[in-house]
Amino acid sequence: MEKKCFACARKVSMSKYCFYHAQAFDNLTEHYKRWVEAYGTISWRDFLYKLLQMNETGIWVKDVIVVELKG
Ligand SMILES: [Zn+2]
Repeated sequence: MEKKCFACARKVSMSKYCFYHAQAFDNLTEHYKRWVEAYGTISWRDFLYKLLQMNETGIWVKDVIVVELKG
């Protein structure tokens, strides 16, 4: 069965995200790990909200954050 990326209309086979959004998601989780190491505990959701409000956050990453916050 054909599926679509959770964050855009690109077709995907197995994964939740297309190539671009999967990359953005990987960046996001890496960033989260570094954040926790540097500043201590922050919940995944709080982290996502924080990034969503930052101008520096890329558009691909913001697409992923919106999906993750819904889930
Ligand atoms: Zn996508």
